[in-house]
Amino acid sequence: MHVAAVYCSDGRVGEHFDDFLQNGLSLPRYDRVALPGGPASLAGYAEARVAQEGAVDELKFLVEAHDLTRVVLIQHEGCAFYTARLRVGTQHMAALQRADLVRAAYFIRHVTGLERIDAYFARRTDEAIIFEPVPTE
Ligand SMILES: [Zn+2]
Repeated sequence: MHVAAVYCSDGRVGEHFDDFLQNGLSLPRYDRVALPGGPASLAGYAEARVAQEGAVDELKFLVEAHDLTRVVLIQHEGCAFYTARLRVGTQHMAALQRADLVRAAYFIRHVTGLERIDAYFARRTDEAIIFEPVPTE
């Protein structure tokens, strides 16, 4: 099974994402699509139009060249894409991020024809980062 992970390019969280994908989801190998805001860049925002075009190209390429069959989307709490680029207040941010996971999954299904899109919201606690599954259908 060939998998692509779409996540934020924020260097502070990349290691946690890789740990979750490799150990939490038991995916030793996957293609990385890292971009500001991760799945937010596939949720239809005008502020991310160029990034979205690039990500769509990359996903379509992976479907053709790597027989991609599954995409894992990860959003993370406190993502600067929302605060800095979209100017979203922290109060409503997590709810918006979860809604964007659903939007991004729908969009990826539409443009690639892939069925299996899994989504997670990475929430920070005092001890660790918890990856909560978010239903996308
Ligand atoms: Zn981020």
